[in-house]
Amino acid sequence: MGCSYCKKKTIAKHNDAISCSCPHKDATAQPWFRVVANLSDSTGTISATLFGNEMKKLTSCTPIQMMNLFEEGRVDDIEDVVNKFNGQEHIFQLKAYQYGSAVNFTVLSIDDTRTNSQI
Ligand SMILES: [Zn+2]
Repeated sequence: MGCSYCKKKTIAKHNDAISCSCPHKDATAQPWFRVVANLSDSTGTISATLFGNEMKKLTSCTPIQMMNLFEEGRVDDIEDVVNKFNGQEHIFQLKAYQYGSAVNFTVLSIDDTRTNSQI
């Protein structure tokens, strides 16, 4: 769960009001995707953390839908969602930036190589 505005992690339950350090005083706890993925091309592999919008595009599933599948114990349906993008080829347009000694990346766009279209 994360803040409905800034996505900062919280242990509150879905839709509970939370006190967050961001300026919004009406924030609630909302589910967000957070998936670590290995992105590879001919030059190498990077480990990337994919959040809300990227995962929603790749899975065609919202975080609330995924949360409901989990709460209902529908493991097979969760696997179906994951298998929609696991091992698939996509083109990620990334922007790299230095953060301390680490290099981080922001996803600018995702293209589906099967349809040659942006998702
Ligand atoms: Zn917040």
